[in-house]
Amino acid sequence: MKRTILIIEDNDLNRLLLRDLLTHHGYEVLEAVNGQAGVELARQCQPSLVLMDIQMPGMDGITATRLLKVHSGTCRLPVIALTSFAMAGDREKMLLAGFDDYVSKPIDTRQLPLLLKKHLGDDDGEDGMDR
Ligand code: MN
Repeated sequence: MKRTILIIEDNDLNRLLLRDLLTHHGYEVLEAVNGQAGVELARQCQPSLVLMDIQMPGMDGITATRLLKVHSGTCRLPVIALTSFAMAGDREKMLLAGFDDYVSKPIDTRQLPLLLKKHLGDDDGEDGMDR
């Protein structure tokens, strides 16, 4: 069974790169361009994990993550922050904001799949096929 990852990110290029990377690794991908749309999609579609941009027009990623974490239907959904600037020392701040983890942009295409595996457990979207 394929795992579904919801990308909430307002930047078209970042979203495209993430979609390609995740699809390549065997995941199904859902996309939203702001926090509000992302929270609604998460509630409707129950993805396995969320990749959340911080700065977005409308509802930002910190507010959206807070909403996901207080709602019983989505509170156990892992949310990984996509941070766009060096946040050395800000890990605790991100965790306090409710994120389960964070990655800095530009995305490390080798590290992100490993991080996803870590948060999704062994039964993830990989099927062992060489793509
Ligand atoms: Mn953004």
